[in-house]
Amino acid sequence: MIVDLRSDTVTRPTPGMLDAMLHARVGDDVFGDDPTVNSLEEKVADIFGKEASLFCPSGTMTNQIAINGLTRPGDEVICEAGSHVYKYEGGGIAFNSGASVRLIHGDRGRITAAQVAININPDDIHHPVSRLVVAENTANRGGGSCYDPAELRRISALCREQFLKFHLDGARFFNAMIATGIDPRETGTLFDSISICLSKGLGAPVGSLLLGSGEFIHQSRRVRKLFGGAMRQAGYLAAAGIYALDHHITRLADDHVRAVRIGEMMQACPFVKQVMPVETNIIIFTLSETMPDELFLARLKEAGILAISIGPQSIRMVTHLDISDPMIEKLAGVLKQC
Ligand SMILES: *Cc1c(COP(=O)(O)O)cnc(C)c1O
Repeated sequence: MIVDLRSDTVTRPTPGMLDAMLHARVGDDVFGDDPTVNSLEEKVADIFGKEASLFCPSGTMTNQIAINGLTRPGDEVICEAGSHVYKYEGGGIAFNSGASVRLIHGDRGRITAAQVAININPDDIHHPVSRLVVAENTANRGGGSCYDPAELRRISALCREQFLKFHLDGARFFNAMIATGIDPRETGTLFDSISICLSKGLGAPVGSLLLGSGEFIHQSRRVRKLFGGAMRQAGYLAAAGIYALDHHITRLADDHVRAVRIGEMMQACPFVKQVMPVETNIIIFTLSETMPDELFLARLKEAGILAISIGPQSIRMVTHLDISDPMIEKLAGVLKQC
């Protein structure tokens, strides 16, 4: 039994999902006539009350298309220092859009309206134009931390007032929704654009959606083609996404319960220095000097348990659809031997 806690992206499609994929009606989505892609795009737009959405191969692509559509070269993007758009998209903000970045050191990956306010450049020809704010919910490097909806409302109001755009990297939005009850429809009103992933906790093999106004998605469709992300019979993948939205949202609560249990187990380990609060399906902890991270990961791996290092002495584990209670018990046993 391999216990793969490296990421919630490692899941395999369930039999029900494979069945939905097998029976999908498809067409050529570049011509706009794949009925399953069209119905996924409508379904997701409806969940957030947005006018339209666009099915893309990855969350990196949806984020990068949004940044491209909402900025001009030389503009500045305001985001958290550990955010995915900055740290894990290969420098795409600069490469794809020629924009610069203003980093905020937030609280477990989350920024506040007050922090955004002092990072907006004055209207002075020396400075790049502050154009876009990006928030991540849940925040990956924040250990799956969730935003207080009130803070998002404040940032959104500030952006409107200052003529900035506001993008949500909601790769794990549904984890936040299950954990905090945040309303997708209200969320839709707060952001100009939203990215969600089907291939994380929702358990689909591939796919993300970008949401926004009809005009924004029309423009984004052009940029998706430009980035090489327009797919043909993508309905097979969209069918997995529809299945995931129908069957795998409420069960995220199980992942959260298991993550809390892992957090408690780590807290009890003599070689663990600190565990970040566990709010959703991500557990991040630091090891004491007595236990080098490479040694810890190697011992786990020998026992069939996979996790990753996300910084010096910093380990991340993620629960998901393919993690069961017996696997958590196995981890408990292995930790006692470490
Ligand atoms: C996974 C992830 C993405 C998108 O990643 P892809 O692997 O490109 O789909 C975006 N933002 C966050 C916070 C993520 O965790």
